[in-house]
Amino acid sequence: MTSDVPKFLVDEMLQRLGRWLRAAGYDTVIATNAAPDYYLLRQAIDEDRLLLTCDRELMQHRRAPEHVILLRGTTLEECVQELSRQLHLDWQYDPFSRCLVCNSLLLSATPEQQEQAPDSVTERELPALYCPTCQQVFWEGSHVKRMRHQLDTWQQNLG
Ligand SMILES: [Zn+2]
Repeated sequence: MTSDVPKFLVDEMLQRLGRWLRAAGYDTVIATNAAPDYYLLRQAIDEDRLLLTCDRELMQHRRAPEHVILLRGTTLEECVQELSRQLHLDWQYDPFSRCLVCNSLLLSATPEQQEQAPDSVTERELPALYCPTCQQVFWEGSHVKRMRHQLDTWQQNLG
């Protein structure tokens, strides 16, 4: 992928969507408090992110058209479809390369960190990943499998 891979800032109401964008591998900041509109827009511009929001008023800002994507969907599924249509997103861009909690890039777990994984994981020799910010080890459990399957489904439904 080239450097024009989009980065995102999502408003608090879209935090579920934000976590899915992280799961797909996109650099995504989730606004954590009810920051004023102009502040979110400013942050999006400063950090070269697309601001995803369901707040229509944000679209009235002069600089909104280049930086804001208004999503009208009320469910996660609708928002995913809308965003896919507008941006041609690749939901399998780089799955599970980022921490779902904090957005940091994950590292391969060291052998010591690997030992924190449950026996069932180490027995199957699945690779574990480590978030340097959360200081947490993540491994490919059934939850991740379900999420991968969901990303596959969204990607296949495109086009
Ligand atoms: Zn983290």
